[in-house]
Amino acid sequence: MTALAQAHDAVNLGQGFPDFPPPAFVLAAAERAARGEQQQYARGAGAIELCQRVAADASPGLGRAIDPAREVTITVGATEALFATIMALVEPGEEVLLLEPFYDSYPANVAIAGGCCRYVPLRVEGQRGWGLDLDELAAAMHDGTRLLVLNTPHNPTGKVFDRDELTVIAELCQRHDVLVICDEVYERLLFDGREHLRLASLPGMWERTLTISSAGKTFSVTGWKIGWVIANPKLSLAVRRIHQWIPFAVATPLQLAVAEALERAPELGYYDELRQLYTAKRDRLVSALTDAGLRPLTPGGTYFVIADVGACAEAAGLEDDVAFCRWLTTEIGVAPIPPSAFYGKEHAALARRLARFCFCKQDASLDQAAERLTKLGYVLRPGKT
Ligand code: PMP
Repeated sequence: MTALAQAHDAVNLGQGFPDFPPPAFVLAAAERAARGEQQQYARGAGAIELCQRVAADASPGLGRAIDPAREVTITVGATEALFATIMALVEPGEEVLLLEPFYDSYPANVAIAGGCCRYVPLRVEGQRGWGLDLDELAAAMHDGTRLLVLNTPHNPTGKVFDRDELTVIAELCQRHDVLVICDEVYERLLFDGREHLRLASLPGMWERTLTISSAGKTFSVTGWKIGWVIANPKLSLAVRRIHQWIPFAVATPLQLAVAEALERAPELGYYDELRQLYTAKRDRLVSALTDAGLRPLTPGGTYFVIADVGACAEAAGLEDDVAFCRWLTTEIGVAPIPPSAFYGKEHAALARRLARFCFCKQDASLDQAAERLTKLGYVLRPGKT
């Protein structure tokens, strides 16, 4: 979609990366680290300065003192964290449970590990937005399930799993002795007073949960690729045994820069600022989509919004989400992502009426998209001026 957006000079609301610079204090930290003394291979499991900072930040939410030396592993973004973890835990033929729509690297990683995926779709529950049918999840999980991958706040729906849902998920995982990857890369992007709740903090879950996150979204530095896995020593060791043979160690100065950024962020009030910034961008995009006659489901977190574009797609004679997203890019000049890419074959039809838009863009880009989207009025109400 990015290539198509470029070819047609469309506003790219497809791929999720900010088109504005990272905060000055983050860039200053990188400059300092780039000129500093530590320029050689980092400690394999991660520069201890960063492990200490990640551990200190995560300890309150996890309700325990995380050991930086044994329970935090630094990786090449959350992407490598996911890959190393899945390679470490999944043996050929073992079953992994994924919720749909999923982040696209999950099934690819499971396939590389030789495992197989079973899918449970999230479903739109009217005004309440995206819900997980816990009975459907219970029916899909069994004693042979090795791993569940959960993502909260959730890309692409913006769903934030609440305590009740996480409690049922936790009980099911314990009943069937299932390990869990909790992908929390959007942990700082929560709206309307929501708080981030970590699955690993629920009773009985520290033993079986690997919490994955990264600096990319929090500091608008997706290109730095600094991520981490937090897990008990036994699970961390399993991840490290794979990580050792992927990058061995991660870029030293960028680890030190992230350590400094994490340390300074709270005192600068950065996290509140980030929430305010993204709340305003979310509201801007949601109203633009609504005004254009599309039906967005307001996200509780992340920088994505999914809209029901069915009425518009039908009016324009487009058969599914892929056709709609291509058309919106080439004819209207706004590029979204077709969410069927985030479903297995069985449930892909659930995405036929949907499109994903991201709002991690400058206000000028969002306003330009809004202006272009007004053209949809002619499609939905032909003849009206
Ligand atoms: N998980 C999810 C849900 C994501 O959206 C992303 C990035 N788009 C990642 C993992 C990968 O994160 P990173 O860029 O830190 O590798």
